[in-house]
Order: sequence, then structure tokens, then C-alpha cells
Amino acid sequence: MGFIDRYIRALGASTLEHGAPPGRTDPLLAAAFAAADRSGDLGPLLHRVKYADDPMRDAGSLRQLLRLWTAEVTRRGRAHKWVPENTAWNTQAAHKFYLLVAELSLAHWIEGSCRQCGGTGTIEARPCSDCKGRGEAPIDHPGGFVRERVKDMVSELHGIAGRHAARANARLKGK
Ligand SMILES: [Zn+2]
Repeated sequence: MGFIDRYIRALGASTLEHGAPPGRTDPLLAAAFAAADRSGDLGPLLHRVKYADDPMRDAGSLRQLLRLWTAEVTRRGRAHKWVPENTAWNTQAAHKFYLLVAELSLAHWIEGSCRQCGGTGTIEARPCSDCKGRGEAPIDHPGGFVRERVKDMVSELHGIAGRHAARANARLKGK
């Protein structure tokens, strides 16, 4: 059984055991936020939001995740000098830009599956014509520069989540 299956099972078990109403004191969710704050690793939270159809999707948790992800996007954007920040006006514009890229990339990563094929990339054993078999919806923004940065950050999110799954899997196997 892979990490994602086990994780989903653990989430179900904890919900039953604790019988807490959704969105309230969820121990797994609290642990994921604590880990992200301590280590800056968003992996556990990203898994949570993508694979658990539950409290993580409440507005408060998503806002908190977006805040952490915006900080990460800002860090990467500055390192790669996406936009100038040499005047107060520029700095303000840059913050808006980082927030936009963070919002669009997180939303796309969570729910960016192609609507036509449901993310499978195929319809009746043929490549889906809407997404050309990729399974992902196109990133919907008129600005090419924004689209490119969003695309980069969506792959970063895939990377962070993938590394987390790999680490967790290795731990489950006792390596
Ligand atoms: Zn499709």
C-alpha cells in the first residue's frame, strides 16, 4: 500500500476515533501546520489539502496555507528577480504579483484537473482533446508572464508534494 492510500486511511481512522466535527481540533491537521511553521516544509499540508476531502478545505486552513505558500513564492520570486523592487511603488506591485502567482498556482494545483476527462487524460481510451492527454486544465490568465510563473510554481508544488511522499514512503519501509 502506498503512502497516499495509508494516509487517506489514517485520516479516516482519526475522524472516526475522535468523532470531532469537521474543521475543529483535528490532530493531523494541527500537526501538519506545526511542521510547516517549524521546518518550512509544506509537504504534509499539501498532501492534506489535495487528498483529504475535509477540514483542510475550510476557509481558515486554506488561508493559512496560502499565507505560507505566498511567503515561499515571494522567497523564490526574489531569488530569481521576477520583478523589480527598487522603489516603494515597485515593492507594493511586487507583493501583489507574488500573491497572485501564489493564489493561482495553489488553486491550479488543488483543482486544476481537466474538466473534460476528470484529470485522466483519456476519454474512451483516446487522448482527451481538451487537455491533449495531459489531464491538466490550462492555466487561465491573460498575461503570459504571469502564466509562466504560475506554471513554474505549480511544478514546484508537485515537487514539494512528491518529495514528501517519497520521504514518507521510505520511512514506512523502514529505510
Ligand atoms: Zn482532459
